[in-house]
Amino acid sequence: MIEDVDRDVFVRIQTDLLVVGDSIMTDRHHASNGNYEDDDPQNQIGGIIPAFSLSGWLRHGMEKVIQERDGTACHPGEANANFRKDGVYNRDLDAGYHPKGDCLEDDEDGNGCVILDLFGGFGNRPGKVMRRPIKFSPVRSSVDYTRGQAEGHYRRLNRNVVSRNEEDNREPLRNAELDAVANLDGCWHLSFRETKPEFVALLAEAIDYLDAHKTDFMHQLGGARNFGGGIVDCELVNPLYNETELRRVFDRGKGNTNKMDDKDAEWSEEYLPEFEAELAARVEAES
Ligand SMILES: [Zn+2]
Repeated sequence: MIEDVDRDVFVRIQTDLLVVGDSIMTDRHHASNGNYEDDDPQNQIGGIIPAFSLSGWLRHGMEKVIQERDGTACHPGEANANFRKDGVYNRDLDAGYHPKGDCLEDDEDGNGCVILDLFGGFGNRPGKVMRRPIKFSPVRSSVDYTRGQAEGHYRRLNRNVVSRNEEDNREPLRNAELDAVANLDGCWHLSFRETKPEFVALLAEAIDYLDAHKTDFMHQLGGARNFGGGIVDCELVNPLYNETELRRVFDRGKGNTNKMDDKDAEWSEEYLPEFEAELAARVEAES
């Protein structure tokens, strides 16, 4: 069954407002022609949401899924890293993590646990899922969903940081400008270097988990968690869809075809349960 799943899979991501701490790369220099004003509503600015934030967000969701299945996840940090607080690392180990790379010991196939297998990162080991950035554009007709793109509108937010001391009477301390994307709707493109059933099941379950916990601070996307700038609706696009069907998901004027409904039923009744059984077996074997 796994051979029916293409190495390229897509996650639909929708959000009213996304603020990415590591910043959004924009192409405004192309559009500016020397007279760019960042608050001009006529700006047609696109850009890129870097893969780093997306990857961390997904990994965290996957770790939760493993832990809810009573497994432990690879700790994302090195054991000898300089953690800011004493005891943080040990506290994490008690809360469902094993030290990064420990899973490679006594591991016959050398892949480590399923998290390490997917994300790599130990001894220059590449992960088996390639996470791409999302290219966004305000012009929907130029968005190619089959290439992991999204409709999105670049915004420059101005935040006045004011004093919280009562006697200061909300005196402004500084003005912060933030890059944001508003009304984002599109595809995040992931590619498996090797497609394993447990990978697909873990991805499906993690995306469900992230969608169900999208308002929890710890499961928001990006680095601005205190003002709702990263609450994301997400959904794994049925991996059985072909490209035409994938595009149709984003066509507001059209619903599912009968063929798509059939594929949805096949996915949830046949494929996913089989892949989830493989995930359960692997997590069980690793704990
Ligand atoms: Zn591990």
